[in-house]
Amino acid sequence: DEARVTPDLIVTYAEEFEKNYIRRLAIISELKKALASKHSELSISYQPKLNLHTNQVDHAEALIRWNSERLGFVPPDEFIAIAEQAGLINQVTEWVINAVVDDVAIMREQNIPLSVAINLSAKDIVDPHLLTYVTDKLKEFNLAADCLSFEITESDIVSEPTKAIVELQRFRDAGFSLAIDDFGTGYSSLTYLKSLPVTELKIDKSFVLKLNEQNSDQQIVQTILQLAKSFNLSVVAEGVEDNASLTLLRDWGCKWAQGYYICKPAPLVQLINWYTDNLATDWMK
Ligand code: C2E
Ligand code: MG
Ligand code: MG
Ligand code: MG
Repeated sequence: DEARVTPDLIVTYAEEFEKNYIRRLAIISELKKALASKHSELSISYQPKLNLHTNQVDHAEALIRWNSERLGFVPPDEFIAIAEQAGLINQVTEWVINAVVDDVAIMREQNIPLSVAINLSAKDIVDPHLLTYVTDKLKEFNLAADCLSFEITESDIVSEPTKAIVELQRFRDAGFSLAIDDFGTGYSSLTYLKSLPVTELKIDKSFVLKLNEQNSDQQIVQTILQLAKSFNLSVVAEGVEDNASLTLLRDWGCKWAQGYYICKPAPLVQLINWYTDNLATDWMK
């Protein structure tokens, strides 16, 4: 029996490996083309952050989207990781910064005072040119640093905390707020949390999606909120999908909430319409 099963497994494994390999190569070459093209397949969707202290929407997160002509929709979780390994992430991030600052300028013309958070990878923060790229782009439009903030995932920081501290401090010195993204998933050590120059913790959505139903998630979220308080950090909860969870977060003093219950990520024009339509929404009810 074994003799019959094993070769099949090997064949399946080899086929799977080859399929993954071919897809990776396709993603790399199509992404290079998308980055170089003027009518790019890349775009930005924005997801609002509701300030639970003021009942106002004051921030949004920029999330990259790629609709490839050849590959169809490619999720960012998939192509960002490949872009990092293929040495393309700095180009992707510059593309995002460029698009976001253009959009912020459009929002300011329409008197929409949203500040936008951009996701960064570990390789971005060690790139000495990135910060200059951002500040130059803002200067071009006469925009201040509080128009933008940055999110970096906990696992990116954990891999090289000493280096991350130095690099993140440069962003703080330039006036940008910084959040630790996906907080709670990366084996955080209190030792470096104390010394990280960040202003916010962003609770990973895995603890928030079922917050109203899961007692263990409630314990974790309350613990993170207490931890943040003692380190003087603001907290964002991502992945809020129902009103009951939103109410819990507000009662516990969480500052921002983000999730499908409030608004799904949307292109700029839709975001602006949503923002205008919801200026008078009472999220406290
Ligand atoms: P993230 O930064 O933690 O973003 C949150 C993800 O959760 C987004 O997925 C968002 O669409 C999704 N989300 C928001 N609210 C809800 C909700 O209520 N329920 C559920 N189920 N999901 C929700 P998305 O857009 O697919 O992005 C995935 C990840 O890809 C991001 O996680 C981030 O790590 C990365 N990413 C996205 N855009 C960029 C970018 O421009 N640069 C970099 N370096 N990474 C990016
Ligand atoms: Mg994020
Ligand atoms: Mg996250
Ligand atoms: Mg993430």
